Order: sequence, then C-alpha cells, then structure tokens
Amino acid sequence: MKKRDFLLIAAVLAVAFVIFIIMNVFVKKPGDNVVVKVDGKEYGTYPLSNDTEIVIDNAYGKNVLVIEAGKCYMKDADCRDGICVRHRPIDRSGDTIICLPHKLVAEITAGADSNPNEEIDATTR
Ligand SMILES: [Zn+2]
Repeated sequence: MKKRDFLLIAAVLAVAFVIFIIMNVFVKKPGDNVVVKVDGKEYGTYPLSNDTEIVIDNAYGKNVLVIEAGKCYMKDADCRDGICVRHRPIDRSGDTIICLPHKLVAEITAGADSNPNEEIDATTR
C-alpha cells in the first residue's frame, strides 16, 4: 500500500468519525417533554422544565415518575422487577424508561421548535 493511499483512507475515516460525532450531538439533543404511554396509549405529556411528580396509578400498578432539574426518573414503582426504578435518569431526545410489567413507557421528545437550523442561524447572524 502506498503512503498516499493510507493517508486517503485515514482522511476518510476521520471525516466519517467527525460526521458520526456531529450526528450524535444533533440527533441526541436535550429533550423538551416527557411523553408517558400506558399500554400504547398516551397518558400525558409533561415539560422537562417543570419539576414535578407524576403518579401513574392504574389496573397494571403504580409508578411514580419524577421530573427534576431537567431530568426524568422513576422514583418508585410496585412492579415485580423494579427495572424502571433502577434505570438512570433520562434527559435526551429518544431516551426511554420502560416498565414492562405495567406496560408503561416514558419517552423524552424534542419539541417542534428545536430545529437544528435555528442554532446555526443564531451563530451566523
Ligand atoms: Zn417497573
């Protein structure tokens, strides 16, 4: 292999790596809301900016979801596995906490106003 070929491959890999990092930064940006779904149906949407405690109490069981300092975590649940309670706090768009026994999903979503072009506009203005 010639040295130039090697440099070309290294350059391509470096570019791919940079694109990968940029994609991660832009796609997995901080979320705006927590959408809670029970059995596939929307239970409620809560802004991450408001510290609150959401008690979801239904036929499947009870979960206490907490929004605190822009993060969301399961404070308490009476499910048999307790996986949701041990889950790390979530705060990025696309992150989820799932309570399988209770058919409950809490997902972080980004609002419609969080367009990546906005940030670019703000810096070039
Ligand atoms: Zn659970």
